[in-house]
Amino acid sequence: MTHQGSAVDALPLRLLTRIVNEYGDAPRAAAGESGAPYPPADALGEEATALWAQRAAPPEKALVETANLLHPVFAAASGGECADRLNTLIAEAGLTPAMAAREWDVREQWRTSRPGRTLLAAATLALLDHLRGDPDASRLGTCLGEACVDVYIDHSPARRRQYCSLTCQNRARTRAYRAAKRAAGSSPSAVTP
Ligand SMILES: [Zn+2]
Repeated sequence: MTHQGSAVDALPLRLLTRIVNEYGDAPRAAAGESGAPYPPADALGEEATALWAQRAAPPEKALVETANLLHPVFAAASGGECADRLNTLIAEAGLTPAMAAREWDVREQWRTSRPGRTLLAAATLALLDHLRGDPDASRLGTCLGEACVDVYIDHSPARRRQYCSLTCQNRARTRAYRAAKRAAGSSPSAVTP
């Protein structure tokens, strides 16, 4: 049997978006937090805690590198761009599909040939899995909020999510409401009796 690299398990999606938003240069810069220290890897939520209990937490360098490689997938302006960026990540992570058997149960098992890129491989595979179930890549997005380019995955039934969080959504609504009020207040029709 030839050695085909190590098997990759998909990263939980919630952990993936958290890594991008906490460690990525673009989200940190937009939030004015470029100089702030990175959070410790075990402060990324319960998915992280569970995962790092099975294998060592990735070093900060790998978290930053992975975040910066993933952010452009969410910021893609078209499906074609998203596909191109994912193809680049598949190559960067040395990901290849293979088939693995457990008794008669034969399933797809992706592997990576790059030991230093296991986090990127796990994250990329998570996005491939996600798109297999929902190929609409417009649902992978970056927040429209002011001073925010955090990434999100739209799971809403209405399929119209545009913000990373309720906080950003509410802030944008408040801003839009104030702007509308200002516009109404300054328009001639509003001041003329
Ligand atoms: Zn946001």
